[in-house]
Amino acid sequence: MSDTRNEKARTLFVSGLRDAHALENQALSIMNRQLERLEHYPDLSARLNAHVGETKGQIQRLESILDGLGESHSSMKDAAMSLTGNMAALAHTVAGDEVLKNSFADLAFENFEIASYKALLTMAEDGGFTSATSPLQATLREEEAMSGWLSENIPLITRRYMALYQSTGSDAKR
Ligand code: MG
Ligand code: FE
Repeated sequence: MSDTRNEKARTLFVSGLRDAHALENQALSIMNRQLERLEHYPDLSARLNAHVGETKGQIQRLESILDGLGESHSSMKDAAMSLTGNMAALAHTVAGDEVLKNSFADLAFENFEIASYKALLTMAEDGGFTSATSPLQATLREEEAMSGWLSENIPLITRRYMALYQSTGSDAKR
């Protein structure tokens, strides 16, 4: 690759890393708002709580990749996406089946993250940013595990929601 092509590859990669950093901040807002409200779904709470921990680690990984490139993350993008996350979680609190709507959205979110990390890995490989590959792969595995857990557990969450609704009513939604 010529210098300009290298520079442009780097620009795209750094921008992608910053977007991912902001996306993870959005994820934190969404999951924290959900955790504050969840009362009757201990398995879901535990898994979300574990993924909050993983997400903090993912943010650290992105920061050290950016650091290694002599770049910083974007506080403005982070703040904007964090706000978006709070709004998204808030929007579902009015739903009668809040826990289900949140689980559908979480599954969609994890798949957005999976796609983002696959794109970042492609940029890392093709742009020669070799030291980024293994941390990005570690994060991708965590997103795939979370997506898999949600996908497998949506029937269980639904059954619990139905059972709680049948016995206690509106309490079932969270
Ligand atoms: Mg993530
Ligand atoms: Fe995730």
